[in-house]
Amino acid sequence: MFSEIKILLHQGKQYIPDVTTVEVPGIFRGRPVISNAETDIGGLVSLCPTGAISSAPVSIDLGKCVFCGECQRAFPSKISFTKDYKIASGSREGLIVREGQDTPIVINAQNVRNEISKYFGKSLKLRQVSAAGDNSCEWELNAAGNVNFDMGRFGIEFVASPRHANGIVITGPISKNMAEPLQICYDAIPHPKIIILAGTDAISGGIYAGSPALDRSFLNKYQIDLYVPGNPVHPLTFINGLLGLIAKKPAG
Ligand code: SF4
Repeated sequence: MFSEIKILLHQGKQYIPDVTTVEVPGIFRGRPVISNAETDIGGLVSLCPTGAISSAPVSIDLGKCVFCGECQRAFPSKISFTKDYKIASGSREGLIVREGQDTPIVINAQNVRNEISKYFGKSLKLRQVSAAGDNSCEWELNAAGNVNFDMGRFGIEFVASPRHANGIVITGPISKNMAEPLQICYDAIPHPKIIILAGTDAISGGIYAGSPALDRSFLNKYQIDLYVPGNPVHPLTFINGLLGLIAKKPAG
């Protein structure tokens, strides 16, 4: 018994008591802040490997950003990344961070479909499809369910079959080879169902955007309920995004 107690003392508390307020240790790039400082805008825009930075006004599209940090390294007075991991949005437009903006990214409950909080507020089962993913986002999504992040405490879990799922989580840029399996999986999920894009590759194609090896036509057919940026997605970003999506709508 003493050896068990020793192990418990050694390991400490493994779970994160509050995943909505915990601070991320170490290096982590979350929501960027773009200052109003004068700079070489052309140089800034052209250094981004995925075309995530635009000018007039200067903005960063988190759906394209691979969080490489090059812009911050080259233009530290202009770009800085905070550790704010709550960067998921219910709309594509919500992923655009503009010059001078330093406010949290929030999921507007009024824009979330009524059936999502009505049916999935206390239990949400998800089927994950890696559509040519590189296993980085998939790895982090697995971590969301581990003892540290414990997504299951909110009734949110990944399930083995689309027939048991309420929605689909897509990772990867969606290759031609994965277009049909993705469609089959989506069709097998009973209504009502939700679609979540997890990671830069899924949201925009990332560094593979425009490749002839991709077939992203699936995304043109359906409404996307949640965009979760990251390269890869952080478990805290994923969990907080889901909590924002299934939150009860304010009355009125
Ligand atoms: S951190 Fe994002 S915005 Fe900055 S250069 Fe890299 S991909 Fe572009």
